[in-house]
Amino acid sequence: MGNCIFCRIASGEIPSKKVLETEDIVAFHDVSPQAPRHILVIPRRHIEKLADLTGPDAALMGKLLVTATEVARATGMEADGYRLVINNGERAGQSVFHIHIHLLSGRDFQWPPG
Ligand code: AMP
Repeated sequence: MGNCIFCRIASGEIPSKKVLETEDIVAFHDVSPQAPRHILVIPRRHIEKLADLTGPDAALMGKLLVTATEVARATGMEADGYRLVINNGERAGQSVFHIHIHLLSGRDFQWPPG
């Protein structure tokens, strides 16, 4: 998707602070961190949002989730705890329409969320 900012980050066309790259997945620091540590984990393949997922996406989304936990481990988040967030749709807070997991750590988080 030519105009998608996360596709362009995944391809390297737009610079980012990457922490991990695999054949299918890229993780990079959020440019506007909402916690002391805030990393985005995305599939290279353009999927707009959670609600667009269908059965054949299960393996990729499983990898995305496992990769997020691997990034958490590799960046030392486990001792502190961390939160994963996926916003689906504008009212839920989604602003970039390329599916992504927010990996957040380094502060206290509220439950229920605001
Ligand atoms: P969401 O609001 O759930 O769609 O999350 C999108 C996230 O992407 C926000 O936390 C933004 O700060 C982040 N973001 C937007 N542009 C960039 C960029 N060029 N590099 C890194 N993070 C970005």
